[in-house]
Amino acid sequence: MAGDSHHGIVIVGGGTAGITVAARLVRKLKRPDIAVIEPSAKHYYQPLWTLVGGGVFPKRASEREEADFIPKGVTWVRDAVTEFRPDENLVLTRDGREIGYDFLVVAPGIQLDWSKVEGLKEGVGSHGVCSNYDYRTVDYTWECIRSFRGGTALFTNPSTPVKCGGAPQKIMYLADDHFRKAGVRGGSKVAFASAVGSIFAVERYARTLEGVIARRGIETLFGHDLIAVRPEAKEAVFRRTGSGDEVVLAYDMIHVTPPMSAPDFIKRSPLADDSGWVDVDKHTLRHARYPNVFGLGDASNLPTSKTGAAVRKQAPVVVGNLVSAMRGEPPVARYDGYTSCPLVTGHGRLVLAEFDYDKAPAETFPFDQSRERRSMYLLKKYGLPALYWHGMLRGRL
Ligand code: FAD
Repeated sequence: MAGDSHHGIVIVGGGTAGITVAARLVRKLKRPDIAVIEPSAKHYYQPLWTLVGGGVFPKRASEREEADFIPKGVTWVRDAVTEFRPDENLVLTRDGREIGYDFLVVAPGIQLDWSKVEGLKEGVGSHGVCSNYDYRTVDYTWECIRSFRGGTALFTNPSTPVKCGGAPQKIMYLADDHFRKAGVRGGSKVAFASAVGSIFAVERYARTLEGVIARRGIETLFGHDLIAVRPEAKEAVFRRTGSGDEVVLAYDMIHVTPPMSAPDFIKRSPLADDSGWVDVDKHTLRHARYPNVFGLGDASNLPTSKTGAAVRKQAPVVVGNLVSAMRGEPPVARYDGYTSCPLVTGHGRLVLAEFDYDKAPAETFPFDQSRERRSMYLLKKYGLPALYWHGMLRGRL
């Protein structure tokens, strides 16, 4: 069939993980034969969407041409994988290609399950229903915050794993700041309705966030799982975890973090674990059953918080162990679960949470990172985007 091919290394997904791995491999291998399969013409720096929703940047600041980040010498297959045949070392694509490989890296990210909340898919982007989790809707978040004239502002967090566990609440703190500045906070209610039972999984940072919530007078509704939105009526329906009771809350604006899961084509593939994620060894990032397959990033079953910062530490491990495997050597590079969440707690304030598989702090700076700091906010606003585009995606960092 036209377009069929074979490559030494095939990378599925040209997002944060796929491009970082490709760039590092190109620097490491003498004659790399690499293909990246990626359907999107654009590449997004998604961590910026928190600040876009908060009115700090226009959304186009987060967008670049994918073509500019495919490393020189790497083949870009502009197509989407639909099926894996790991016993035949083959992937099949939407446009009918069969692509063979010696080694495979799987990094297609996480899937946003909008339709798991009734009314959300149709409703998001209008009637005060917004979400930072999609490029198409992120600017509507700022629109909702800017035009809030008082009342109730809800911010939700689902029961599923999400990318950047802190993002559902970061936007709330930016919104609260704006409401105060605009003089509409008095008499208004700002509430965080979360399906889980605490504000953050790591105690050290949770303590700081509890202080932020108390200082701001934000209401927390833990054990509240969003199951429906009624945009016309401006009502949100939650199921209480435990009792299963339904609670209906009226809102004037609602920021929704949708449920997420592994992409469907991963779930139904032989590469998936029982929960649908790419089944890899948590230290070597090599597939549990197929030794010539590696996985990283949001689609993998690594038991850590799904972030780009985690990918930065995973990518060198994948590259190191893949190159060892190419030489017939055992994998020696190890990933310790490092992840980082820059918790924006307001305009000009940030707690830089960094931790590992044991939820033990793994902090970079020689000061107490559990405190809110302006310097860390400036790092997120200016430093990290530059490091991403010029360092990480070029295989330099
Ligand atoms: P992605 O970067 O999402 O890339 C996946 C790629 O796979 C995409 O390009 C997609 O088009 C492609 N793909 C999908 N399906 C297929 C297919 N069938 N075939 C081939 N390719 C396919 N991280 C941080 O570190 N710090 C933060 O502050 C932070 N904040 C965030 C805030 C928000 C609002 C969001 C949405 C994310 C945030 N993140 C943050 C998370 C970070 O963006 C992700 O963890 C990171 O991008 C994961 O990289 P990935 O390569 O696994 O997935």
